[in-house]
Amino acid sequence: MRSRYTAYHQGDVDYLIATHHPTQRYGGQRAALVQSVATTRWLGLRVLATEAGQTSDARGASQEGERQGVVEFVAYYEDPKPGQVHERSRFVRQKERWFYVDGDALPPLVPKRGDPCWCGSGKKYKACHGR
Ligand SMILES: [Zn+2]
Repeated sequence: MRSRYTAYHQGDVDYLIATHHPTQRYGGQRAALVQSVATTRWLGLRVLATEAGQTSDARGASQEGERQGVVEFVAYYEDPKPGQVHERSRFVRQKERWFYVDGDALPPLVPKRGDPCWCGSGKKYKACHGR
């Protein structure tokens, strides 16, 4: 998950496609990703929860060694307006590699005014992006 965030941050579209589950890739994805990484400046990632992958016994007969994982995260960006992606993402591990499957968008997290700003400035939220 963190490696995919880093790939978004660095504009590594090949990695983003390679780690997207093959059944979930779509036409025009590369162009959409190229556009996204060109116009979005990622500011920070917070992993809020992880559920480590369990061997899936229900489908285990056909997918030897398949494991599933869930990660809840919030990632902050400017494009140029500040925004965030708050999502519960599903991953599946096949052949020793994790693939992003899909995710559920969650409501934005609103920091408390005295919390450190999410952009990494070191200022309090109320004195930075919370103004
Ligand atoms: Zn800020």
